[in-house]
Amino acid sequence: MKDSILIKISNERINKLYNEALKCSDMDLSRRYITLMESIAKRMDITLERRIKLSYCKKCKTPYNNFNMRIKNGVINIKCNYCGNIRRLPVRD
Ligand SMILES: [Zn+2]
Repeated sequence: MKDSILIKISNERINKLYNEALKCSDMDLSRRYITLMESIAKRMDITLERRIKLSYCKKCKTPYNNFNMRIKNGVINIKCNYCGNIRRLPVRD
């Protein structure tokens, strides 16, 4: 199937962009990388890995480098330092 090659290339690009976004100290550039990564995934209909999806703010696309994390009543609250958006995740055991 020719599509599997496209998906393989897309996954490589996604990983590359993700790694660059984490390494990069320029937040504007990081956000750009994440946005690009999401658009590739969307176009190719690829579901991003959970570890990737959980590592950046869904609202402003800033990677959570030094986020505020709190656990309260079995829910993890992650607050984005850039836009202040709070993400709530149930604690998984
Ligand atoms: Zn944010």
